Amino acid sequence: MLDDASYTCDACGEQVVVPIDATAGRDQEYVEDCPVCCRPHVLNVRIGDDGAAFVNARPE
Ligand SMILES: [Zn+2]
Repeated sequence: MLDDASYTCDACGEQVVVPIDATAGRDQEYVEDCPVCCRPHVLNVRIGDDGAAFVNARPE
């Protein structure tokens, strides 16, 4: 099951959509570079009971 979620880059303000792989677990954390300004963010992904994905991003 693949879903999409989005976060706002705190360096450039761009809203970035990321694909979420719900099979990887309901609580995921990984580093991804903003596609606009290339700054790394630590993304914390949580999958809710209804399957909706939420992403929190913080600067690495
Ligand atoms: Zn950015």
